[in-house]
Amino acid sequence: MQKLINAIDLEFDQQHVWHPYTSTLNPLPCYPVESADGVYLQLEDGRKIIDGMSSWWSTIHGYNHPALNQAAKAQIDKMSHVMFGGITHQPAVDLCKKLVDMTPAPLQHVFLADSGSVAVEVSLKMALQYWHAKGERRPKFLTIKHGYHGDTFAAMSVTDPNNSMHSLYKGFLPEHIFALSPECRFDEEWREDDISDFKQKLESNQNDIAAVIIEPIVQGAGGMRIYHPIFLKRVRELCDQAGILLIADEIATGFGRTGKLFACEHAGISPDIMCVGKALTGGYMTLSATLTTKHVADTVCGGEAGCFMHGPTFMGNPLACAVANASLELLQQGLWQQQVANIEKQLAQELPEIGKLEKVKDVRWLGAIGVVELYEPVDMVQIQKDFVDNGVWIRPFGTLVYIMPPFIIKPQELSRLTSAMLLTLQ
Ligand SMILES: *Cc1c(COP(=O)(O)O)cnc(C)c1O
Repeated sequence: MQKLINAIDLEFDQQHVWHPYTSTLNPLPCYPVESADGVYLQLEDGRKIIDGMSSWWSTIHGYNHPALNQAAKAQIDKMSHVMFGGITHQPAVDLCKKLVDMTPAPLQHVFLADSGSVAVEVSLKMALQYWHAKGERRPKFLTIKHGYHGDTFAAMSVTDPNNSMHSLYKGFLPEHIFALSPECRFDEEWREDDISDFKQKLESNQNDIAAVIIEPIVQGAGGMRIYHPIFLKRVRELCDQAGILLIADEIATGFGRTGKLFACEHAGISPDIMCVGKALTGGYMTLSATLTTKHVADTVCGGEAGCFMHGPTFMGNPLACAVANASLELLQQGLWQQQVANIEKQLAQELPEIGKLEKVKDVRWLGAIGVVELYEPVDMVQIQKDFVDNGVWIRPFGTLVYIMPPFIIKPQELSRLTSAMLLTLQ
């Protein structure tokens, strides 16, 4: 009886609650989760399922982690929030210190923000203000197809035009420049012509381009593509030659996911501006950061405005910073390197078997990311149910069935994810 009284009102949910990318006319079923611990989600009906998604790349240390819980509890008794204008506090200073230490050396200034999309907005505004301060009008950004940078307007304007339905917002959305995405895979032999479309687009728009924005090595929500490090290296070289800023969107790839602390390290490059988010708080709450060099920061602030024109209400939220500090301290202990390497090794053993299935076009993996690409889009309702019935949480989109589990996942738990994929996709 108790259970019934406390049950989540799914009818209300269907009728009134908007979920990500869903219709109010035909809402897809949602699975009520009661609690979560380690790699497990506890469903309301009593089933415990293994989370293969890390709640969209974020819960790298697993749910209900004692150190992260402790950090939140200790901070909440001091202060949950205080404005960041004219005020500073220990959690924010500690966090920015860690971020400056962990990211490539030239990145020295940290702007804290609320979510990944806002970090991207901030990065684009920084680039525009940079050129404005130098007395140049540079209204364009150059990026590559199949990218994803968020759902707010400026972020959407540099996200793949087809995936994010730019056609819906025509006349309202700024139009930027999209080069072909790399075809050369991560561990293939590099082919120099893979960069030619990008090079040509950069050269022919050179004086209009404020910055290049790109997801380093792994393109996430725009297609789960894993590309060759030399592509990124060439992008850096071309930006340097043309004096154009490079923004690395590490929101999905940052904090160990690809096997390096930041994916830029695969190419040995450092961007002028870097966005981080998602795993920053270990998946506990929303927080993001945009980092830049002293040169960019000082140029921006030396301009007409005299400062950077941005300041969210919840900027530097102490509670989020305290948890982020605990999460980064766990990363600094270094266990993640072996964990991610082990996950990658196991994916290399188990995914090729799935690659043999008739429906499967391609399998690929890097670090703690495993991707199965199908010929045809999945039936979401059916496949979601099949996965849950098989004891796992895997949420595909379109033709892509992919996993990016918490780093703490054990080998037998990871095998349950891959065998559920094998079984479901047969
Ligand atoms: C998720 C994501 C974003 C947007 O972050 P939100 O927190 O959802 O606003 C931006 N860029 C990349 C690469 C992402 O994966």
